[in-house]
Amino acid sequence: MKGVVFGRWTVISDKFLREYGSQEKRRRRRAYVNCECVCGTVAEVAFIELESGHSRSCGCLLIDTLTTHGLSKTLTYKSWLAMKTRCTNPTLQETKEYCEQIEETYRTTLGEQK
Ligand SMILES: [Zn+2]
Repeated sequence: MKGVVFGRWTVISDKFLREYGSQEKRRRRRAYVNCECVCGTVAEVAFIELESGHSRSCGCLLIDTLTTHGLSKTLTYKSWLAMKTRCTNPTLQETKEYCEQIEETYRTTLGEQK
C-alpha cells in the first residue's frame, strides 16, 4: 500500500502500524498507517478514514477550504472537530504552523482552483 495517495496524504508505511479491538472486523477498521501530507506533515492516520475519504489531509485542506471558499457552514461539526484535534494535538505542534503557511501558499497559487 506504500505510495498510495488519498487526497493530500501519501502512505509511507507498507503495513498497518497497530491495531485495536478484539474482533477481526473491528481491528481492521481501527488500523493505522503512516502518511505524509503534501505540506510535509507526517502522521498516523486511521486507514478506514483514508479509505472512506473522511481524512484527506492533515487538516490543511480543510483550512484551505474554510478560508478560500467560505464553505464553513457546510462542514459538519465532526469534521471541524477532527481538524481542530489534529491541529491542537501537542505531538503535532508544528502542524498548525505548516497548515497556516501552506494555506497562504495555496490561497495565492491555487486559490482559484477547486
Ligand atoms: Zn497538510
